[in-house]
Amino acid sequence: MRYILLLQCTECRGRNYSSTKNKKNTPEKLQLSKYCPHCRRHTMHKETKA
Ligand SMILES: [Zn+2]
Repeated sequence: MRYILLLQCTECRGRNYSSTKNKKNTPEKLQLSKYCPHCRRHTMHKETKA
C-alpha cells in the first residue's frame, strides 16, 4: 500500500514535488532538500498530504 504525498517548500510554501511512500516502512515525516523553482535554489521540503 503506497501513500501519495506532496513535498512542500518550507520557505515559500510552494508544493513542488509529489512522491509516494510506504507508511509501514517510513512512518516519520519525509524531509528532503530539493530544488525549489520559486526560491530558485535548494530548500528543505516537507511532506504534506496530496
Ligand atoms: Zn520555495
